[in-house]
Parts: sequence; structure tokens; C-alpha cells
Amino acid sequence: MLRVAVIGSGPSGVYTAQSLIEQQTVPDIEVYVLDRLPCPYGLVRYGVAPDHEKIKSLQNNLRTVLEHPRAHFLGNVEVGAPGLGIAELRKIFDAVVFCVGAATDRRLGIPGEDLPGSHPATEFVAWYSAHPDAAALRFTFAARSALVIGVGNVAVDVARMLSRGAAELAATDMPQGPLGALADSHVEDVWMIGRRGPSQAKFTTKELRELGSLPDTDVRVRPEELALDPAYRDPGELPAAARRNVEVLRGWAERPATGPENPDAGAGAPPARPRRRIHLRFFLRPVEILGDDGGVRAVRFERTAPDGAGGVSGTGEFEEIEGQLVLRSVGYRGTPQPGLPFDEATGTVPHLAGRVLQDGAPLPGVYVAGWIKRGPTGVIGTNRPCAKETASSLLADAPALAARGTDGGPLAAGAAHRTAEDPVAALIRAGQRPVPWPGWLAIEAAEAEWGHGLGRGTVKLPDWAGLLNAARSAEPSD
Ligand code: NAP
Repeated sequence: MLRVAVIGSGPSGVYTAQSLIEQQTVPDIEVYVLDRLPCPYGLVRYGVAPDHEKIKSLQNNLRTVLEHPRAHFLGNVEVGAPGLGIAELRKIFDAVVFCVGAATDRRLGIPGEDLPGSHPATEFVAWYSAHPDAAALRFTFAARSALVIGVGNVAVDVARMLSRGAAELAATDMPQGPLGALADSHVEDVWMIGRRGPSQAKFTTKELRELGSLPDTDVRVRPEELALDPAYRDPGELPAAARRNVEVLRGWAERPATGPENPDAGAGAPPARPRRRIHLRFFLRPVEILGDDGGVRAVRFERTAPDGAGGVSGTGEFEEIEGQLVLRSVGYRGTPQPGLPFDEATGTVPHLAGRVLQDGAPLPGVYVAGWIKRGPTGVIGTNRPCAKETASSLLADAPALAARGTDGGPLAAGAAHRTAEDPVAALIRAGQRPVPWPGWLAIEAAEAEWGHGLGRGTVKLPDWAGLLNAARSAEPSD
């Protein structure tokens, strides 16, 4: 029997487990999906915005995999903690696949980045998604103007969440604290700012278009800024995704402006001005976050111009955009994993088709999939082929894995293979207190009950104590 540990229960981890379970070459395989959190699904639970219910429903597909008889979810297991390094894991499992994603955010590296009121967008996302590590964070929305730096899908998510009204948010599974804070928000202007042109924005068209359908919110773009991009003027050569983005932006640029905030303006007047505005700006590179005693007050940008090679160069002209809240949405970044090689430049683990490479040679029995393998790019579905490739490498190595010693080398005559001990018992002995699948089901039940009591649907429990208490309620009493 081949016993595999998959570290991380987000899409890449679950798709890896699925590829391992559904293949026919190694039928007697058991896959243990370990997660640091007591809850499964990674960024599908803690990254996909709460108002994106359709994407969130992917959890149902992931659930089917984790409920397979050959899959075993074990939450609240911290790989890398004392007593649970790679060496110890390899004594419990024949192979270990790291699917740990990209746990931190990229830095801008400009003055003022850490002023009060300037946050990584990833923190804001974790907070409104009820990530238990974000339970101590406090966001307030006294700001009238909020700046989102970056034009990827996370930037679109946070701009949209800042623009949604209380009634729409109450229908989601957002925890009570963030719901109340966002419902009381004073934000009227949300700026989403790209350093390059509209044809190079990273957001996808479906997500971009959604900004135009938000109630009581106007999307504004500046035709003269869009026109600076040669590919915007002549989008014929653009890849389809970028061309569609350009078409949406063109539609917004060509719309008549909305009028003043006066619903009684009379017949023939422009439509009343919506309560909120999302301003999409391009060719502005952040150079400094400016503050005063109360925290952030503005961001200073240098205007840029296309350099003809897909990049931009500075023009020496500057512009300040006022804002009291700054969300830096410039991408995620992988973090070094104890005992694994790490490429600082890319924030990924070096690998060949998913086999971890140490000094150019495969580290026996250790694999990667997902963002820690290829970097934080692509949509959820991108993880499927990525996971499949890694699973294929692992399965090709299966005969060698089953015949190796705990040091990774060939099994010496009479030497012990990995332990025959049950992995849960071995993990407990290693100092962990795993939350198995019934514990997660108890969390789900507690969240449904909590929401019901609040007169809402399911509402997520936002802290470690609440999650672990709920999970423990499923444990048999002594
Ligand atoms: P992203 O797609 O890589 O976008 C990062 C943005 O930050 C880009 O606009 C980038 O501009 C900009 N940026 C980077 N460094 C900068 C700097 N120093 N100054 C100014 N701007 C800078 O990252 P993301 O938005 O975090 O998304 C991560 C992944 O998750 C993506 O694959 C995304 O599609 C996915 N995701 C998908 C969804 C969805 O499907 N609904 C939702 C959320 C996230 P340049 O292009 O100029 O570098």
C-alpha cells in the first residue's frame, strides 16, 4: 500500500488527491490531505469573495474527493512545526506533496507602505473571508476614498467588496464583524490603479464586467488614458482575453457621464449620480504612500508611458490621488517551506514535473503542485493539469517509493520501511491534534446554526477558538 500525504487542502491539494485516487496503476493508495487550518478548501473558502457564490460552490466538488474512502482529511496539522519536519513526515508517509499555495503578499518597496491605513489586499480578503489568522485585524471605513493598487482579479474583488451595499453582503457567509464594518462604510470613491495599460491588465473579463453591474455604483475610465495604450487603439493583435477587456473598457469610456447627486434634477437632466464610483486608472506607478498624523492621506504616482516592449517607463510627471485607505493588490508570493529548497526570485520550490529538485537532483518522495510549484497565477481550474502532472510523476516513482528506506535511499535488506503505525496516531505522537472529517462537518453545522440564529444563512466562524470548539464537539467523549 502506498501512503501519500498531500499538504494543503485548497484546489491544488484536492486535485492532486483526486488524481492519485482515480488512477488505476497503483490501486492500493491511501491519500491523507493535511491542512494547518481545521477547515478544508484553502482559497476557495478563504480567498474567493463571499459574493461569488457560484465559484464557492466548487467546494461541493472538492468535498466529493475528500469524502472518497481512500482520502482522509486531517485539519489542524502544522507541517514544519517541531517534530513534524520532512524527515518525520517521510517516516509516516511514502511520499509527501506540498500544495501550500502562496501564503504571503508581494511588497511594493516604496516609502509609506506600512503607514496606518495601508494594507496588503490579501489581509483585507482574509479578514472578510473569516480566516482565523485574521481574527485580530480591524478594518474601519471612515475613508471617503479608497485606493486599490494593481489591476488583477484580487484588485477587482476588493474594489467590488468595497462597493457593495449592506443588503447584498448580508446574503453572504461573511462573519458579523466585517459585515457590520462594511455596512457602515463611508467609502464613496474606489480607485483601481494599474502601472501599465488597459491591454496589459491582469483581471479577467467576467470579473471586470461585473463591476459595471453593481447597484448604485458608477464605473469611470478616462478615454485619454486608455488611448495612450497602442493596443487599446488597435486591439486586433491582442490575445482574446485582453481584447475582451479592452472592449468592456471602451464601452465604459464611450458612455455619457452621469449627473449630479440630485434625483429631482428634472426631465432631460443626466441620470442621478450613483452613491459610489469605481475609477479605473492606468499608466500610474506608485512611488510613495503619503501620510499625516491620522495615517494615509494620498498616494503619489509617476505617470508612465508604454515602452513598446510590453513594459512602461517613467515620464517624470507625478500625480497624487487622495485616499485614506490603501489596499496593495500586487500579487501573492510563496514562502519558504522548512526543509525544502526555495527560489527567492520566483517564490516557488524548484521542481521537475512536480518532483522537488535539490541542487538539481530530485529529493526522493517529495513533490509540489499548485502555486508553490508554478507561482500565483491562473484560475482555480489551472490547478487541475498542474496537479495531474505531479501525480503522474509520483505514480511513476511508486515502485521506488515503496522500496525505499526512511532516508530516501534504497531499502537495505531487513531495514524498516515507513512506519506501519496509523498516520493519525503518528501525528498525535508528533505533537499534533488533528481535526478529522467529522470535526469539519461539525464546524459546518455550527456555522449553519450560528447563521440561523442571526437570521442569516450560514455564517463563518471567524476565530481559532470557535472553529476548534465546534470541531471538538464531534469527538467521542471519554
Ligand atoms: P495578479 O493577477 O498577478 O495581478 C497583480 C497586479 O499587481 C498586476 O496588475 C500587476 O501589474 C500589479 N503589480 C505588481 N507589482 C506592482 C508594483 N510594484 N506596482 C504596481 N503594480 C504592481 O495577482 P492577483 O490579482 O493577486 O491574483 C492572483 C491570482 O489569483 C491570479 O491568477 C488571479 O487570476 C487569481 N484570482 C482569480 C479570481 C477569479 O477568478 N475570480 C479572483 C481572485 C484571484 P503588472 O502586470 O504590471 O505586473
